[in-house]
Amino acid sequence: MTPAVHDRSLALTSAELPAYLYDLVALRTHAAAVRSAFPERVELYYAAKANPEPEILAALGPYVDGYEVSSGGELAHVAKAVPGRPLAFGGPGKTPDEVTAALEQGVERFHVESVYELRMLGELARRAGRRVAVLARVNLALSDGSLAGSSLAMGGRPTPFGMDPEQALEVVRALTDGTYPNLELRGVHAHLASGLEAPEQLAVAEAIVAWATGLGVPVAEVNVGGGMHVDYADPDRRFDWAAYGEGLARLTAAHPGLTLRIEPGRALTAYCGWYATEVLDVKRSHGEEFGVVRGGTHHLRTPATKGHDQPCSVLTVDGWPHPWPRPAAEDEHVTLAGQLCTPKDVLARRVPAAGLRAGDRVVFALAGAYAWNISHHDFLMHPRPGFHFLDAGPEVTTGP
Ligand SMILES: *Cc1c(COP(=O)(O)O)cnc(C)c1O
Repeated sequence: MTPAVHDRSLALTSAELPAYLYDLVALRTHAAAVRSAFPERVELYYAAKANPEPEILAALGPYVDGYEVSSGGELAHVAKAVPGRPLAFGGPGKTPDEVTAALEQGVERFHVESVYELRMLGELARRAGRRVAVLARVNLALSDGSLAGSSLAMGGRPTPFGMDPEQALEVVRALTDGTYPNLELRGVHAHLASGLEAPEQLAVAEAIVAWATGLGVPVAEVNVGGGMHVDYADPDRRFDWAAYGEGLARLTAAHPGLTLRIEPGRALTAYCGWYATEVLDVKRSHGEEFGVVRGGTHHLRTPATKGHDQPCSVLTVDGWPHPWPRPAAEDEHVTLAGQLCTPKDVLARRVPAAGLRAGDRVVFALAGAYAWNISHHDFLMHPRPGFHFLDAGPEVTTGP
């Protein structure tokens, strides 16, 4: 944890916990390092769905070329948070109203997910008098098993995302034969898996580029997606951006005139967020010790959805304000659960936390992506956490 997060986790009162702490300095440092791994002609878009907090979107601004949005809601939100920045509109099931709003908003790139969507977009763009760039989203099957290590594979199997190669080819043809004067074929988009390490990501990128450049029509851009691995079991082991960047540099060198784009979410913002809370109770149940913390998976659903233990640190607190005895752990290991009345509300199992006491603080790491915004906030009606955006400049805090 960064010093700013450490200090703030101890400084907040019990009533101010739990709280999401975002270290914007750490975010900028990380984003700058990611950006510097890429050569010319590799563009970086941030997939807003990973964490759309306006402060996060703004902090990423200098390091990204644009933002990928996947709904009308994200579109309106991101356009307001980072006005004037390029947006790519992707995602399945775009409604005519969303597409119209995107056209009015000046969105410049559409990732088309089906033949139906192409027809809708073609007509709505004509009516709006706009000419827009289209990337055909393809669901490629990779023959070499490069998706095997993925935690969430979408490529090469039935999904609602993108088009089978034959359908994508149909879209590419329709975009080049004059059927849609308001649509310009810009290239190909693919987001085939999540949780891949750099060598596998590179193999996937190579396969997508090979497919796109083999279509026999000029392709200016290939978006090879996001899905860079975040290791929740070993937070210090980060995705090898340098190796990935070198590989992409070889790809752009082999294809002069081609622009590559990546659109990571998780691996950009996961590391800048922490969920800080305090231990409310320590108790034993059938041989296992539990620390019940303020808050839980209704604020940080990630460990429940991914089935992992959220990495965490304990900050011991000496004072105990109450007249009644303070419960303390007797075991070496303690399972950290939240306040919800469901056995699924576990943040981390068997954490080494000898001597853990009520009143101690627990700070969960890797809470900057797919954390608060994927959680079921209203279940059991506990209060919302506070949100603190820690910066070198003046403090920014937003209420619950
Ligand atoms: C979710 C998503 C991303 C980002 O994925 P991460 O695993 O967060 O990097 C990128 N592109 C598309 C189309 C997505 O749906």
